[in-house]
Amino acid sequence: MRSHLIKPELGKAYPLIDYGKGIYLYDATGKRYVDGCSGAVSANIGHGITEIIEKMAEQANRVSFAYRAQFTSEPAEALAAKLAEWAPDRLNWSFFVNSGSEATETAQKMAIQYWQEKGFARKTRIISRWMSYHGITQGALSMSGHVLRRKRFVPILNDYPAVSAPYPYRRPAGMSLEEYAVSCANELEQALLRIGPEHVAAFIAEPVIGAAGGAVVPPDGYFQRIREICDQYDILLIADEVMTGLGRTGKKFAVEHWGIHPDLIALGKGMGAGYTPIAAVLASDDIVGTIAAGSGVIMGGHTYSANPQSTATALAVLQYMEQHDLVSQAAANGRYLLERLQQLAAKYPLIGEARGLGLLTGLEFVKNRPTKEPFALSLGIGQRVLEAAFRRGLLIYPAFGGLDGMAGDAVIVAPPLIITPEQIDEMIGLLDAAIAEVQEQVN
Ligand code: PLP
Repeated sequence: MRSHLIKPELGKAYPLIDYGKGIYLYDATGKRYVDGCSGAVSANIGHGITEIIEKMAEQANRVSFAYRAQFTSEPAEALAAKLAEWAPDRLNWSFFVNSGSEATETAQKMAIQYWQEKGFARKTRIISRWMSYHGITQGALSMSGHVLRRKRFVPILNDYPAVSAPYPYRRPAGMSLEEYAVSCANELEQALLRIGPEHVAAFIAEPVIGAAGGAVVPPDGYFQRIREICDQYDILLIADEVMTGLGRTGKKFAVEHWGIHPDLIALGKGMGAGYTPIAAVLASDDIVGTIAAGSGVIMGGHTYSANPQSTATALAVLQYMEQHDLVSQAAANGRYLLERLQQLAAKYPLIGEARGLGLLTGLEFVKNRPTKEPFALSLGIGQRVLEAAFRRGLLIYPAFGGLDGMAGDAVIVAPPLIITPEQIDEMIGLLDAAIAEVQEQVN
């Protein structure tokens, strides 16, 4: 039958998905795949969970949609209350949207609106980092430094990426991690002084870099210094936790690893855990209080924002995570996964570094391990590993093209948080064979 569907790669044949159960997906030929990347780091509690499906059906039988400008709903209220319980202090407010891009873009607008309502209408600029991905819509892409995704559209984007993100594996030779953390964070101060803090509304960063770098974890001290600078120059801090939030890194929010409190947090992906499209901006009491005392209206939102069906589903996901203690499990199993990836790194010279936090881990490939010389991106080494894994029934996530021509040829391994140590072993077995195949090609 002729296809009318525009797929990611035009002309490529994709297997037909049949069903999913736990960490496994099955295609229509019966082939089984270990979902080693939770789809797009989103199916965080695994596939086909009966409790979630039952709660979705229950809500669908009551009401799926009621427009947020006409009604509030029990599930939307309960989900916002649950997120306030989970979130760092002061972040007691939720604004629901439908995708991570909408969440980061809405966070950007909320920051600008906050300053307007306080009488600082010139504070409109957002500063972001080159090694970053905050989404594909125009505003979110403006904040993203991801080269491959950005470059075609540069003429219609704002010029927001201005500072480097810490990339410990490739820090200047001889520099300690402590010095590197402070030097990267101080780039924000330099950018603020150059642009003028009176023009800047917020700084946005992913706590652990996802698609633009492949699970790049910042050194301790970086985010603490960033928070200090934001406070000193009166700019808001937005944490893009679309990939890292809600347990993925072994804490409810990744920023907890460094004990900092952002002013706004963007969530997505694991929030609906693949059962529904939903995302959110969590905002501080100060931001919501200021807007409430001013115009009284958050200028944002989408038709499906806060709909009862999606909010009931996301609430069921968070309840499931609590009942099964998935956040602590992600921490423990994440340590084991990293250990297993480091064993692979010791075995294959192709792997420059195995890294990550919790169940968000990555492998970076290099041509020369001692010098860290990258492969030419045109060789597509990350893509070859991805394809070799796919053929063997293992799904991993691409993290290449984020940086201009040089490093960053990486893949992400981020299985559902329900994975067991035995299943990690199974996954590593498949990955080992896939990397062996590519190592053979480059020897
Ligand atoms: N922010 C981060 C950190 C992401 O990883 C992504 C997606 O990969 C987004 C934002 C955009 O989310 P979405 O694809 O749901 O629009």
